[in-house]
Amino acid sequence: MQKEKVIVIGSGPAGLTAALYMARADTNPLVISGNQLGGQISITNEVENYPGFPEGTTGPELVDLMQKHAERFGARVVIDEVTEVDFTQGSPFKVKTHGEVYEADSVIITVGASPKRLGIPGEEEFIGRGVSFCATCDGFFFRDKEVLVVGGGDSAMEEGIFLTKFADRVRVIHRRDELRAGETLKKRAFANDKIEFVWDTVLDEISGNGKVEKAVARNVKSGEIEELDADGVFIFIGHYPNSDLFEGQLEMDEAGYLLTDDQKMTNVPGVFAAGEIQDPVFRQISTSVGQGAAAAMMAERWLEELEELEEQEA
Ligand code: NAP
Repeated sequence: MQKEKVIVIGSGPAGLTAALYMARADTNPLVISGNQLGGQISITNEVENYPGFPEGTTGPELVDLMQKHAERFGARVVIDEVTEVDFTQGSPFKVKTHGEVYEADSVIITVGASPKRLGIPGEEEFIGRGVSFCATCDGFFFRDKEVLVVGGGDSAMEEGIFLTKFADRVRVIHRRDELRAGETLKKRAFANDKIEFVWDTVLDEISGNGKVEKAVARNVKSGEIEELDADGVFIFIGHYPNSDLFEGQLEMDEAGYLLTDDQKMTNVPGVFAAGEIQDPVFRQISTSVGQGAAAAMMAERWLEELEELEEQEA
């Protein structure tokens, strides 16, 4: 069994930042990447809202730079997936992957959340080429274009309104004839001239030649099918936190987001969380980076206290 001071589970912006801070604190952190090195941003083509890159950058480039930065100070990144954890006995914690069993004095969880998918043909294929799950990230590329927004909740309204800064026409496709969104956002969306609503409708397919050009819409009441021209399809039907692994061991809210205190610590002392796994609200690279740094600073302090305690006991 391999013994570590700290294991960072996940390798998105929160994880790689936590690793950088832990490495600079001389704790030789081990990062277990998860099934996608870099997490969600690794599939984001263009990033224009991360400070320090006035010309913009790409998700994969940012991941590469963040990884190199953490490794420069001694972080080790292994490409593997955590399959099981045991936090029940306190520190040292057990972390099992496909290839190894580890023990770690502390753990920082940064496994993120995933946008829910519609599960229709073309959706996966056109991610980054017209299909997007983030208007703040990609809206800028739809200046003077026509986009579809799927969903009827607060996210769909907020992001749809944001998209009207760029797009000429924003059609909200909602499966019912009543929005789930709260009154304020609903009113703002209804008052926006660029937003149209297509009620009782779902998308069955997204298609195009190399990039999104059309979507097949179906009225769920009449069964009528219509082909809608669109340059982009923005999907906001909720997120799910990737927290299954921690069920029964860490406290979560009813949606499955990990609960942390103001020190980024979970209900298990020594286990911290940062990024989207504990943040259903902001979901930005910059906010995840900040949360990763905060979690690492607290984890480092916690490790120091643990060492002091062990010295006193010895
Ligand atoms: P949400 O409230 O769960 O809304 C998801 C929307 O997507 C619903 O309208 C739902 O339709 C629709 N939907 C779900 N699955 C679908 C599918 N397979 N096909 C088509 N449509 C589907 O999610 P959210 O909007 O991301 O909001 C999440 C939480 O964050 C909420 O508590 C929200 O209030 C909060 N939030 C707040 C703000 C704000 O206050 N500024 C901004 C963003 C988010 P139905 O309505 O028919 O179920």
